[in-house]
Amino acid sequence: MRILLAEDDDRIRRDVTQALEASGYVVDSETNGEEAWFLGDTETYAAAILDLGLPGMDGLAVLKRWRADGRDFPVLVLTARGAWTERVEGIDSGADDYLPKPFRMEELVARLRAIIRRSGGQANPVVTVGEAELDTRQMRLSIRGVPVNLSPQEYRLVAYLMLNKGRVVSQQELSEHLQSVHFERESNAIEVLVGRVRRKLSIALIETRRGFGYIVAEPDSAP
Ligand code: CA
Repeated sequence: MRILLAEDDDRIRRDVTQALEASGYVVDSETNGEEAWFLGDTETYAAAILDLGLPGMDGLAVLKRWRADGRDFPVLVLTARGAWTERVEGIDSGADDYLPKPFRMEELVARLRAIIRRSGGQANPVVTVGEAELDTRQMRLSIRGVPVNLSPQEYRLVAYLMLNKGRVVSQQELSEHLQSVHFERESNAIEVLVGRVRRKLSIALIETRRGFGYIVAEPDSAP
């Protein structure tokens, strides 16, 4: 899943990027508010982490513009310590959660996971589809209780489809969620990735809808 990180403090940006990448996310980071607004408006993200004190355009203005433009991805706002008015204004402007600085990376990742889950209508950290079980805390897929050995990118693919279970996801959308803007997107990369994941699974979890994309469907409610 691709995350937009807007933070002008170099150390925080580097640490957060590292923590998110270690947790299986793809990160686009930006230091300028105007640039961050543009990326959020034109690219597809599972969520954004937004510092409120940004040069170019402040975080609240960025958030208000995204919401006014109908961009509804979940946003976690980073605020200065003790600035409760900022937090209230952030939530009122459409933030899904906030975290005062300084914070523990573990808490940031946990809160991010929670807002992404809730935005997919999924309050439980464990997603089950038939015999497949995805544990988003441990970043692990199990089939009939047996963990499947997946690379980070293979895990991201399965996780994205399972978090969107019951919905056909196009190759375009998958490509946007699985690759950073700074990498060139190869046209058949998703097909290759899906093929690799299927060979590792003992069940037919990912179905192809020719011309439309891929779907993970509940066994008894296949549309
Ligand atoms: Ca700042």
